[in-house]
Amino acid sequence: MLEIKNLHVKLEEEDKAILKGVDLTVEAGKVHAVMGPNGSGKSTLSYVLAGREGYEVTEGTATLDGEDILGMEPEERAAAGLFLAFQYPVEIPGVGNMTFLRTAVNAQRKARGEEEMNSTEFLKTIRARAKELDIDAEMLKRGVNSGFSGGEKKRNEILQMAMLEPRMCILDETDSGLDVDAMKLVAQGVNKLRDAGRGFLVITHYQRLLDHIVPDVVHIMAGGRIVKSGGPELALEVEKNGYADIVEEVA
Ligand code: ADP
Ligand code: MG
Ligand code: MG
Repeated sequence: MLEIKNLHVKLEEEDKAILKGVDLTVEAGKVHAVMGPNGSGKSTLSYVLAGREGYEVTEGTATLDGEDILGMEPEERAAAGLFLAFQYPVEIPGVGNMTFLRTAVNAQRKARGEEEMNSTEFLKTIRARAKELDIDAEMLKRGVNSGFSGGEKKRNEILQMAMLEPRMCILDETDSGLDVDAMKLVAQGVNKLRDAGRGFLVITHYQRLLDHIVPDVVHIMAGGRIVKSGGPELALEVEKNGYADIVEEVA
């Protein structure tokens, strides 16, 4: 479903290569985890896939269901079914969380040629999803992420994901800044969305999230490349020995 081939990315502003030949394929129905030391390029990979400005693809391809996504505008990528939960979710004061979600859901539906969600159905759905993530009604009324704690922002990202039902979900360090209980809620939210038609790329620095979201495949990223891939046991190896051994072994 998501196919990344030999992806090279540099910063637009300076001649600094960050991704140096990433190869990664996520099949429908699978959860792939990407782990790696700080600064290895994990967030950059997610930004480039989502279409954030400031990066230049110098080589390679990324396709979703065979369609080139790198040439698309960010909103076209979203319409194609790509979703990114940010490591640092932005605050949008003045734009109500509820209004934002309703607009996003209906834009998504329109892009898919589906009917809009009416307000009754929308309210019913969002209340149920919010409850599962322990997000109260007051948080839904506030500006998007406005004054939310770190943990609330991360849960709100998962709420967006649950409402949008994307085909390909990318989560960038959604576990960072979460206590164990909040992390379990987030993991439950993700697990509920696991489906034969949906793929996940779960980026995490720590293994602990993968106790709750058990991945099918684990990749280790270092120096802008995937240097090793394996099953869930690879995450446990990292937990035990750190990244140094693997990075050294590959070098
Ligand atoms: P990770 O998410 O694995 O911690 P990042 O993708 O955030 O890694 O960063 C990879 C490398 O690229 C780091 O060395 C980081 O400092 C650098 N980098 C990423 N984006 C920028 C930017 N906009 N300006 C300067 N350096 C950047
Ligand atoms: Mg980092
Ligand atoms: Mg990062």
